[in-house]
Amino acid sequence: MKTEHIIEKLQELSKLSSQLEITDAERDIYIQQLSDFAGKFISGLSTNRSYNEKKPASLAIQNGKTSFEELLNIYEDQIVETGIRAASGKFMGYIPAGGIVASALADFLAALTNPYASVYYASPGAATLENEVIRWLKSIFSFPESAIGSLQSGGSISTLVAFTAARDAHHIKNEHIPNSVVYLSHQAHHSTHKALRIIGLEDVQLRYIPLDSHHRIRPDALQSTIKADIAAGLNPFLIVGTAGTTDTGAIDPLKEMAAIAHAHNLWFHVDAAYGGFFILTSKRKHFDGIEQADSLIVDPHKGMFLPYGTGAVLIKDAAAVLHSQYYEASYMQDAAAEDLIISPANISPELTKHFRGLRVWLPLQLHGVEPFQANLEEKIWLTHYFRNELRARGFSLGPEPDLSVSYFWYPFNEDMDTKNRQLMDEIHADGEVFLSSSIIDDHFVIRIAILSFRTKKESVDQALAMIDRCLQKLK
Ligand SMILES: *Cc1c(COP(=O)(O)O)cnc(C)c1O
Repeated sequence: MKTEHIIEKLQELSKLSSQLEITDAERDIYIQQLSDFAGKFISGLSTNRSYNEKKPASLAIQNGKTSFEELLNIYEDQIVETGIRAASGKFMGYIPAGGIVASALADFLAALTNPYASVYYASPGAATLENEVIRWLKSIFSFPESAIGSLQSGGSISTLVAFTAARDAHHIKNEHIPNSVVYLSHQAHHSTHKALRIIGLEDVQLRYIPLDSHHRIRPDALQSTIKADIAAGLNPFLIVGTAGTTDTGAIDPLKEMAAIAHAHNLWFHVDAAYGGFFILTSKRKHFDGIEQADSLIVDPHKGMFLPYGTGAVLIKDAAAVLHSQYYEASYMQDAAAEDLIISPANISPELTKHFRGLRVWLPLQLHGVEPFQANLEEKIWLTHYFRNELRARGFSLGPEPDLSVSYFWYPFNEDMDTKNRQLMDEIHADGEVFLSSSIIDDHFVIRIAILSFRTKKESVDQALAMIDRCLQKLK
């Protein structure tokens, strides 16, 4: 092919391909429009309902072009206006967080500059920043300097990484699986079961340990179950404790569980996805023993109020992690000379990934840690307030929670479960404040989960007014 012809073709292609590099003027306009959108969205949060039963019309990819302004309108109408408004302080279902703006700005910066955070050699700055986030997390949970960790998309993937290390440290190869035993609570999050299945441990034996009246694992029962399993010739290898259960906000007795785990040489994993950051509050003593875990997961997209997409895993046995997560490939040879641990890719199933460390680091540097602590403490007090007000209205309440998740039901004289279910339906149809439900001890209950940085006393008052309205309809 003639060079002249190639040059001609390149000129022709360049006209179209260059459109992806928008002009300075276009960029300024888009950023302005985005900023206007953000202002309107945030100021509307306190007045807009937190739940809308509306479903999106069509979001199919169109041939041709749509203006950025029009796309923002579509976004508002089809995404913001459908389902749960998770950024709202009136979202008190599941585990909210809100999504702090500083993280959104960090995401913009990360996406714009696009550093390759996975490999130290490719971006020493980005890799170091992520490692510093891990170091900070280790310090919060009093993990030793020698522990390693990585940032993941959330708690589920973090659990996957932790359990893989537990499996490899205990050499649970195929032939050992049916004999191996995992100890957990019925309140353990379902991502625990998913992770076991995904990593090939579907056929291990699961032992659900009886709980106390606060839904915490009973250490005496854990101890006797393990002893019985050892006597029966089985291979106990993993204990899963939860620091903040999703349904009941309970913290298992971590210290006792750690002692039992280590006396029998078991791996102790702590799921602190929801509750972990409450270690920064007056609830600190409930977390005693967490520093003795072999692995721990915690979700900054919950307790640090980040937008969704960031979990973290910490693990003490570095060799066990590297066994599955480190892989040397020839196309990575320029990177391989570097110290293994400083490249996030070696501690994670991911290679190329979002530079998610920035969305943790930047807000901490911008705001300092105190507003995060104050928010968490505030959520605990809001939970007390909510429960007191519900009690005053004649509702029955679950046990005093360790953190900011609790549940309640109305003691209707008859058909209690059915009527509480109807109350839940009324609450969803109302939509002012979003609450969710669960089944606890075989009963239908309504759950409150307070964790958004935007949830304030006014939001709880709005929830109470809504509950009054909805209960009135059933009486
Ligand atoms: C949310 C949660 C998980 C799962 O984390 P994701 O970030 O949703 O994947 C695991 N355990 C507990 C206790 C949780 O609250």
